[in-house]
Amino acid sequence: MKDRLGRTIEYMRVSVTDRCNLRCVYCMPEEGVPRVSHGDILTFDEITRICRIGSDVGISRIKLTGGEPLVRRGLSSLLGMIKELPGIEQVTLTTNGLLLEENINALVSNGLDAVNISIDTLDAGRYEELTRGGSLRKALEGMEAALLFSNLKVRINCVLMRDVPADNYVSIARLSENRNVDVRFIEMMPIGQGRDFGVVSGGEIYDVLKREFGEASGCEGKFGNGPAVYVRFPDFRGKTGFIDAMSHQFCGTCNRIRLTSEGCLKPCLQYAGGTDLRKLLRSGADDEHIRREICRTIYEKPACHQFSDCASAHTDVWNDERKTGCHQERGQIYETKDMSQIGG
Ligand code: SAM
Ligand code: SF4
Repeated sequence: MKDRLGRTIEYMRVSVTDRCNLRCVYCMPEEGVPRVSHGDILTFDEITRICRIGSDVGISRIKLTGGEPLVRRGLSSLLGMIKELPGIEQVTLTTNGLLLEENINALVSNGLDAVNISIDTLDAGRYEELTRGGSLRKALEGMEAALLFSNLKVRINCVLMRDVPADNYVSIARLSENRNVDVRFIEMMPIGQGRDFGVVSGGEIYDVLKREFGEASGCEGKFGNGPAVYVRFPDFRGKTGFIDAMSHQFCGTCNRIRLTSEGCLKPCLQYAGGTDLRKLLRSGADDEHIRREICRTIYEKPACHQFSDCASAHTDVWNDERKTGCHQERGQIYETKDMSQIGG
């Protein structure tokens, strides 16, 4: 369905847990976040029900995320349950990759269409520091295991950080030189711990990569569910993408909503609150009631985030009405949770 600004909302990111086996410095505090009890997390049946009702109103693509989605036992069976729903065309996963090798067969058998693996550095020591204890080897083994499936789209997500040397990003980009993998560079967003980090723009890294690999060609067409802009460097097998949430605000074409692991439907990453679908589910609401609440949440989706000064964040696609809507978001309360709690 379309929201009040005419944006088509067709993509839902579903967080299956707020727990994680890593503590990435920009995502989680070292001590972790207060644990949500099992009873407060949506069951697989509840998640599937929301996806089914969502598909009735036009949600056709689902991303499973977290926290670390693979720490939730039986994730592949949830994936299968969602994939079987009429109207759901694609189910994908975002993971840190540590548990991917042991899960990939079951995930692919149950219909996984694509996997995004988060790897910010190929330096094992720096990886351990950034993730506070993670094993780069396990993440890379996860990636290689995923690449054995020729029909599975594999992408690497890399968040850009100021005090990491630029050649770090050259080596990450090289992952797509000889592999059938796309690498995406993501600008740090001021969510949770990410507020303490400066922004390195995708443009800065693009310049570094051009100096190293030569002029890239633009890639036409739609790849993935989001706002990444892709190029291909000469002789590279895979594409290189840039998700410039800070330097190029793309809210005007936003197509997504988010479901937290506790069942809160959030229309925008930045604002607190959302619609408590768990309460409805557990108080016996019928499908029609839940459908109405999903539609209302989508319809009222904020015009834009306020990560940077809204007034200077116009994109070409924004018309005057949208700009006005953008200013009206001021005064809303911002989300204070970490990315792992919202479902990144
Ligand atoms: N644990 C899984 C993983 O790391 O891929 C899924 C959840 S994680 C929150 C999803 C993505 O959000 C990761 O690629 C992570 O790097 C990214 N992320 C976390 N905090 C961020 C921030 N403040 N700005 C931009 N991306 C962020
Ligand atoms: Fe965990 Fe992913 Fe956050 Fe890292 S980015 S702490 S792996 S949820």
